[in-house]
Amino acid sequence: MPTIMSHAAVPIAGALVLGHGRLTTAVVATGIVLAMLPDLDVIGFGMGIEYGEAWGHRGASHSLLVAAICGLLAAALLRPAHFKTVALYLFTCMASHGILDAFTNGGLGAALLWPFDDARYFAPYRPVEVSPIGNSFFTGRGLAVLWSEFFTIWLPLAGFVVLVLAMKRVLARQE
Ligand SMILES: [Zn+2]
Repeated sequence: MPTIMSHAAVPIAGALVLGHGRLTTAVVATGIVLAMLPDLDVIGFGMGIEYGEAWGHRGASHSLLVAAICGLLAAALLRPAHFKTVALYLFTCMASHGILDAFTNGGLGAALLWPFDDARYFAPYRPVEVSPIGNSFFTGRGLAVLWSEFFTIWLPLAGFVVLVLAMKRVLARQE
C-alpha cells in the first residue's frame, strides 16, 4: 500500500474539483474513511489468513465490486441531495485504494476484479514506494515512502486539481 495518509489524496482532490455545493463535509469525511478502509484486511494476518488468499491483504476488500457496494451503501445512509454524484464519488474514493496499491513496487498486486477473478493486479508502471506494514513505518524507510508519494501521488493530483479548476474558471467566464 501507499501510506494510509496518501490514500486520502484522491478523496481530497475529488472534493476540491467537485466543490462544496455538491459534496458536504460528511460526504468528504466518509470518502476519506472509505479510501482507507480496504487496509483493515491486515487484521487477517493475526487470524492466520495468508497474504495471497482471497480475504488476505490486498484481496477482496480491494476489489472494485466491494468499492461499488460500499459506495452505494454509504450514499444511501448519507441521503445526499445529489445521490448519483455522491455515490460515484464514494465509489471512486474506495476504488482508488486498490488502484493506487497496484502502482506500488512491492507486495502482491490488488484483487481488483474479485470475486470474478482472484488474480492480483499490478499496473505496468509502478513508481510508488511500497509502505512498510506496522511499526517498521516509523523509521527512515517510512520517510522515504512519504517522499516518493509526494512526487507520485500528491503532486500529480494537485496538478490535476489546478488544471480542472482553471478550466472551470475559463468556461464560467465564457458563459
Ligand atoms: Zn491496500
